[in-house]
Amino acid sequence: MSTTAVPQIVRFAAENTRDVGDVLGIGPDQRVKWARGLLPRGPVNGTIFYAGEMYPVMGNAEGAFRLMRRLEGFMNINTLAKAGPIMKKLGIYTTGAKALWGGINEEYERALQDAVFVLKKLGVEMGYLFEDEPPSGVALHTYGLLREFKEHAKGVHEKLKEMGVRRIIALDPIVATAFKLYYPEFVEGWEIESYHFVEVVAKKIAEQGLKLKLGRKVKITYHDPCYLARTIGVVDEIRFIISRIEGVEYIEPPRHGVNTGCSGDGGLELTQPPLARKISYERIEELRETGADLVYTSCPACMMMLRTGFDSLNYKIGVYDLASLIAEAMRNEIDRVDPMKPEFKRYNVLPKSPKPKSLSLEDLAEMLRRDTDKCKKCGFCNVECPTANALDMLESRSARGRMTLINSLVRGDPVRPKEVLDRLYSCVLCGQCSQICPVGLHVQELIIYGRAYAIYSGRAGVPS
Ligand code: SF4
Ligand code: SF4
Repeated sequence: MSTTAVPQIVRFAAENTRDVGDVLGIGPDQRVKWARGLLPRGPVNGTIFYAGEMYPVMGNAEGAFRLMRRLEGFMNINTLAKAGPIMKKLGIYTTGAKALWGGINEEYERALQDAVFVLKKLGVEMGYLFEDEPPSGVALHTYGLLREFKEHAKGVHEKLKEMGVRRIIALDPIVATAFKLYYPEFVEGWEIESYHFVEVVAKKIAEQGLKLKLGRKVKITYHDPCYLARTIGVVDEIRFIISRIEGVEYIEPPRHGVNTGCSGDGGLELTQPPLARKISYERIEELRETGADLVYTSCPACMMMLRTGFDSLNYKIGVYDLASLIAEAMRNEIDRVDPMKPEFKRYNVLPKSPKPKSLSLEDLAEMLRRDTDKCKKCGFCNVECPTANALDMLESRSARGRMTLINSLVRGDPVRPKEVLDRLYSCVLCGQCSQICPVGLHVQELIIYGRAYAIYSGRAGVPS
């Protein structure tokens, strides 16, 4: 497992996010193409549909991932990290990237278009900001560049307020999480409501008492994205929506809802692709064993990991966004049967721990030491940790091992930058550890803050 690219790839992703808004550096022109003619420009009654920076470019990521798999031994993530900045300097990056990676964007763009179709059909009034949509910058948060994320989020808040945005409906659960949890934490006065697409759709279907018809019979399963299920607690809405579609036979995978398994994403596909792939294969076997013909999910990164994984393993099972299934059913006749007051449980399985007072090194260290000192080394967190499992329970790549490392880091014990990067950036941020920890440590949050400490203290060897 090579980690030499981590500093470059983190820096490359951060610079792209800062300069053009998405980690791959594709830019707003391509990101808004899917929406032409579909929505009015600007908020409608304060509401916008927010596409975010991942759905519109995920096809490029999928292309890059597929290419790396084909050229294993010749090209890897190091090549992208090194070649990207050079291509950018030469002004050939966007064209070169599209040519090299293929830009398999149709399925992801269709998900956005289908989501808009469904919301409009349900009577939701909303607009879209097109090129003015500010990227959420959530990748900065993921990679531990928290000072940069805070600055970015403040700018986004100002811009949204100026444009009169009061409500956001996002299809991407990672950006929905950013607006629901990270923005209120990092931006003073954040008051913009935000919803994930399925929250809005389930509520409307319940209130209007709708029964949909697919017009064909399919056996499907659903992969709960960890951000949607475990982090913001949206689970029941999905089952409710599926139960309202005639023609669908639904099979629940063994790990589902707040106990969902990891698709291998969480930023790992950029920093350590072979490990990401190994994790995704385990989940793919589980989904395949349900006997379903089709797999649905609600996250562009999960969709990318599962699509490429199913193909690599030669399994002929399609992976699609749930929005596309709902849209397909909504294009048929719709029955109105039993309007009801929607009541969906909001799962709250992750611990809440006090945040650092500021992002200074002292405050970060104080928070990290306070929490990691509480670790009892029981190892319960290791049992479900996908990276530890994929690496034969290697302690250093386990949840407990990462807590030990962060504790050593903030205590000033000798650690090598390469080890810091390897251990902290091999975590997929799935949260299975946090859910199980008996002392209530929010392990994946500590890992993000640990990344920030490692970067800003210079001990990770990543230029800040
Ligand atoms: S479950 Fe919690 S207390 Fe136990 S080893 Fe993991 S982080 Fe430490
Ligand atoms: S340390 Fe926790 S968040 Fe990271 S991969 Fe392991 S279980 Fe998931």
